[in-house]
Amino acid sequence: MSKVHTTIALPTGQKITIPTGLFINNEFVPALGGETLETVNPSTEEVICSVSAAQAADIDRAVQAARTAFKTTWGKHCPGTERGKLMHKLADLMERDAQVLAELEAVDNGKPVKIARDFDIGDSVGCIRYYAGWADKNHGQTIETNDLQKLAYTKHEPIGVCGQIIPWNYPIQMWAWKVAPALACGCTIVMKPSELTPLSALKLCELIVEAGFPPGVLNCVPGYGAVAGHALTYHLDVDKVAFTGSTITGRKIMEAAAKSNLKKVTLELGGKSPNLIFESADLDQAANWCLLGITYNMGQDCTAGSRVYVQDTVYDKFIQLLVKKFEQVKVGNPYDEKTFNGPLVSKGQFEKVLGFIEEGKKAGAKVLTGGGREGTKGYFVKPTIFAGVHPEMRIVKEEIFGPVLAVAAFKTEAEAISLANATTYGLGAGLHSNDAKQCMRVSGALEAGTVWVNQYNLLNNNVPFGGYKQSGIGRELGQYALANYTNVKAVHFNYGEELEWPLV
Ligand code: NAD
Repeated sequence: MSKVHTTIALPTGQKITIPTGLFINNEFVPALGGETLETVNPSTEEVICSVSAAQAADIDRAVQAARTAFKTTWGKHCPGTERGKLMHKLADLMERDAQVLAELEAVDNGKPVKIARDFDIGDSVGCIRYYAGWADKNHGQTIETNDLQKLAYTKHEPIGVCGQIIPWNYPIQMWAWKVAPALACGCTIVMKPSELTPLSALKLCELIVEAGFPPGVLNCVPGYGAVAGHALTYHLDVDKVAFTGSTITGRKIMEAAAKSNLKKVTLELGGKSPNLIFESADLDQAANWCLLGITYNMGQDCTAGSRVYVQDTVYDKFIQLLVKKFEQVKVGNPYDEKTFNGPLVSKGQFEKVLGFIEEGKKAGAKVLTGGGREGTKGYFVKPTIFAGVHPEMRIVKEEIFGPVLAVAAFKTEAEAISLANATTYGLGAGLHSNDAKQCMRVSGALEAGTVWVNQYNLLNNNVPFGGYKQSGIGRELGQYALANYTNVKAVHFNYGEELEWPLV
């Protein structure tokens, strides 16, 4: 076996050979210094395989490959219609390989196979097709000026080489959200997946080759954040960095951009999102959406609805419903098609979440259900509800990134809004009410980039997504995301006016 491919066994027993090298110029190559990192199966706590770990010199190679492609075969050298065709081909191949990609995701991330296949990969295919459609439609404008013999027009030109740094919670979906608009706009890419979940991003590189993308258009460099991510964000020949992950890393990325070449930056960061349950709401439905909000992806979700505020008149009834539903969540083997919650992604994340649970207990909050690990092996955590919380507790203020919910009561609409907005984050917020005027008032008052009314956590590829306050900068998805990858050039064209000189 070469150093850049490894054979692993999938849970079904099927053996597959997967790429484990860096992907540069459409080839899998080892890191120049031979460095590797190990990736672990969170269900079994066993090492799956080693993957090449990019260092600064490898990042430089990948950036050079992306720059060459940008100047020769992509960017202004490949018409939008052609880029769109290649992207559609990629989407077809992802659909063909959905099962194997989903199994790989389950092994590497712990995500249930069914969820990975039907939602993560299904939505990713949709995202790539959505932006494939934009590839030949991202036009500029013709602008009338005050002068009769002149016109101005704008061109939307690709920004150039883009560093894209993604987290471990949605390894395929975050890949799709990042690469699709970039490819559609004609940018080239150096993608750094999370060190915890590099396998699906590498597998997707095989599909990039099969689809027929020219070498260097998309490069993939797994590696540690402090090494590979750092080198990418400080690189002087990278024009833009798009990042999803923690707010603390987001700050470092802005700093890197400021200290290097002022590369453009978009950030999709954390959250501590509220769900408000008003007395007129359909309580059973509201409980379903709140459950989805905090247990989807085991709560490892930037929009996790981790705070629920319930009107005091319906509090007891709602909590009863919610606890019952929490206790029905099937936690366990991610390869079982009926499992909703697999393990958390890693030992570190598992310990962090259990630490928050213990701290909540010590601070005096009351566990209504859950409250610890599930089983004795693997990083499984029971979906947990804390009541009796107050706003200063860490479980109420900080992003836990696990299936841990804090609930509290409110009396008035104004109090609910004030509790919801009492956070430095502003990514998502939900409200549940059957009073239309209240829905309009409250959705207008919530400080969040996405507000869900009588639902939670569902997104569409054609609707923008991003954060208010410290939850991010810029918007992904929808037409808005095209701006992240486009430079606007204004051309002032004179077809007759003569300049009289001297002017004064
Ligand atoms: P992280 O922000 O450290 O990592 C996300 C990505 O950034 C990874 O690819 C990582 O390698 C890279 N990175 C880390 N340090 C970097 C640096 N200095 N320069 C450039 N790139 C760097 O997130 P994490 O450690 O994987 O998770 C920590 C916490 O972040 C989680 O517990 C959760 O609260 C939050 N998180 C949020 C999201 C989200 O979608 N908003 C996703 C993952 C994690």
